[in-house]
Amino acid sequence: MPLPRRSWAEPFKIKVVEPLRLTTPEQRLAALREAGYNTFLLRSRDVYIDLLTDSGTSAMSDRQWAGMMLGDEAYAGSENFYRLETNVRRFYGYQHLIPTHQGRGAEHIISRVLIKPGDVVPGNMYFTTTRLHQEMAGARFVDVIIDEAHDPASEHPFKGDIDLNKLERVFVENPGRVPYVSAAATVNMAGGQPISLANLKAVRELANRYNVKVILDATRIAENAWFIQQREPGYEHRTVAQIVLEMCSLTDGCTMSAKKDPLANIGGFLAVNDAEIAAQAANLLVVYEGLHTYGGMAGRDMEAVAIGIEESVQDDHIRARIGQVQYLGDKLRDWGIPIVLPVGGHGIFLDARAFLPHVPQDHYPAQALAAALYLDSGVRAMERGIVSAGRDAETGLERHPKLELVRLTIPRRVYTQAHMDVTAESVYAVYEDREKIPGLRMTFEPKLLRFFQARFEPR
Ligand SMILES: *Cc1c(COP(=O)(O)O)cnc(C)c1O
Repeated sequence: MPLPRRSWAEPFKIKVVEPLRLTTPEQRLAALREAGYNTFLLRSRDVYIDLLTDSGTSAMSDRQWAGMMLGDEAYAGSENFYRLETNVRRFYGYQHLIPTHQGRGAEHIISRVLIKPGDVVPGNMYFTTTRLHQEMAGARFVDVIIDEAHDPASEHPFKGDIDLNKLERVFVENPGRVPYVSAAATVNMAGGQPISLANLKAVRELANRYNVKVILDATRIAENAWFIQQREPGYEHRTVAQIVLEMCSLTDGCTMSAKKDPLANIGGFLAVNDAEIAAQAANLLVVYEGLHTYGGMAGRDMEAVAIGIEESVQDDHIRARIGQVQYLGDKLRDWGIPIVLPVGGHGIFLDARAFLPHVPQDHYPAQALAAALYLDSGVRAMERGIVSAGRDAETGLERHPKLELVRLTIPRRVYTQAHMDVTAESVYAVYEDREKIPGLRMTFEPKLLRFFQARFEPR
């Protein structure tokens, strides 16, 4: 009898292990209370499987660790800076590298260079830190993503696409006030959904007609490229590396968090083609991040990023990375658990509205669901709903996003298929008991990016 399928396996084996600690339900309840029902405030020693984020949580390769020993910790002109610059040019094609301590450092610098107070920045849904830096530089952010992105049940293959009519309306209504289009690949907040190359090309053409730049959030570009290879006609025989380069060629520059796709534990950069913008950015860099040849990173970190970039665009790596996410997603979907479809590149997003229909959005259903999951098994997830959306910069009122999600984010090269099984079974157990999960009340609300530090109690 033929086998029903041939399984894939990770293109690596394990050389070093880090023991995990199991906890009792009583220990988890105590830890959750201590953390104000916010998974960001849990201590990692109290977490069993940590799916809070895939940011800086990747397992580095033996080559990256070996590279750490080659750290040239010179204040100026470190060898590692030049190796990183070479790889940024080679794999993304941008001419000028401005290193930063992580992605938000790059977002801060480019926002300060390109935005004037009163400007408008359109983008494909928002990312928390990206939008905040644009707003703090004086811009108003306008979401121009296609409507399907806000519908967790839509199976559109490119839910990260920009709606060209919405984009043109922003250009027409704000002449001379749109410095750039903020295009993300993939769109984290929509569930790790990709933008198509056809759409990015059309955005480039439209932006050219209105003399507007396109700045890419390239944090998850290798994952996006893999979806293009799988789903976009004409790209099935192109490598992920080729697709990444083509995407970058359609934009004027990018911000990058090296803690995501580039497989490093810290780091990031801004990269642009325009020499004048690069010079202004490098000048701001010395004020906020560090000298322009380290920008907040140690030499060894720049080396790890340079090597990680190369590893991140290998087809076998990205196939296994997304394959693991898909394995977890397929299980949950087959069990009828409401998740965002299609499954994205970096995690599974539980649809908390459908999961907890008895909890109104003002009682923070996604926050409550993340807490319940931790209580059940010690799996740590993250809220991506009304708490993350925060308050409107002008009215001060809470934003009510259509998507009220819990993100189970899969770190790269860290967990095994058995960890995915344990996670799926915990979600299933919580789903069976969902009527008993209460909403939450916020007892402490920080002013900026409140989701990181807010505290709650059960209602
Ligand atoms: C994480 C992330 C950022 C911010 O990067 P940090 O390194 O956390 O500052 C920006 N955009 C996207 C899409 C991200 O996922």
